[in-house]
Amino acid sequence: MIIYCEEEVHAIKRSNQIVAKILEELGSMIKPGVRTRELDEHAEARTREMGAIPAFKGYRDFPSSLCTSINEEIVHGIPSSRALREGDIISLDFGVLYEGYYGDAAVTFPVGEITPKAKKLIQAAKEAFHKGLEQARAGNRLSDISYAIQAYVEAQGFSVIRSFVGHGIGLSLHEEPQIPNFGLPGRGPKIKPGMVFALEPMIAMGDWNVEILEDNWTAITRDKSLSAHYEHTVAITEDGAEILSELDKKEASPFLKENRYA
Ligand code: MG
Repeated sequence: MIIYCEEEVHAIKRSNQIVAKILEELGSMIKPGVRTRELDEHAEARTREMGAIPAFKGYRDFPSSLCTSINEEIVHGIPSSRALREGDIISLDFGVLYEGYYGDAAVTFPVGEITPKAKKLIQAAKEAFHKGLEQARAGNRLSDISYAIQAYVEAQGFSVIRSFVGHGIGLSLHEEPQIPNFGLPGRGPKIKPGMVFALEPMIAMGDWNVEILEDNWTAITRDKSLSAHYEHTVAITEDGAEILSELDKKEASPFLKENRYA
C-alpha cells in the first residue's frame, strides 16, 4: 500500500478537482430526453480541454470515458443513445488521469421527479459514504470503514452490493487495498496518513445479488431493484481525512491558469 507525501496528495487533488468539476457540469445536464452518450461526449471533451486523459476509456477495453448506470444498473453502464426518462435515477462514475495521478468519483442523480423511496436510496448512498469517511482515520483498521457503511445501509432497509469495492488510488486507478462496503470491524491493515482511497458504497433497494449484462460490463441487481452509488477520493491526514474530489469552491479551478495548484 502506497503512502503518498503531501506534494503527491496535492497532485492527486488536482486530478480529482477536474473530476469534480466535470461531474458538476454533467449533473446540470441531467434531464429527461438527454442521451447518455451526450453526457459521455461532454465528459471526454472537457477532460481533454483541461489537459487530462479519461481514465476509464480503454481500461480493460471499457469503451467510454464515463460510466452511466440507470435504475437497476449498479455500475459500469455504457453510454449509448438511450434517453433519460422522468423518474429514472442515473449513476455517473468518472475518472481522469492528470499529470501522472488519477482521480475517481461517482454520484447518483434523479431525473426530474423521482419517488420518495428512490430519493431515500440516493441519500443513503451518500450518507453511507460519510459514515465510512468518519472511520477513515489514522489508527483505525480498514474494515472499520466497511462495517460503518454496511451498518448504516442495512439500518436504512437497503442492501450493500458485495461484488464491487472501494480501492486505493493515486499512481494507478486501482491500487491496494480493496475496501469492501461490508464486513466485520477491526480487520485488515491499519490506516495511516498519506493513504489515498476511493470510498464508494453501491447499494440496492432490494437484494444485493448482481448480474452482468451481455455487454460484459453493465452490472445490474438480479432482482432489478434500484441501485445508487456514491464515491469520493479521500486522503488520510494526521487528523482525519480530506475529500479530494469535492469541488474546492474557495480555490479557482485547477485547470484555470490563476489557480495556485496549476
Ligand atoms: Mg472507484
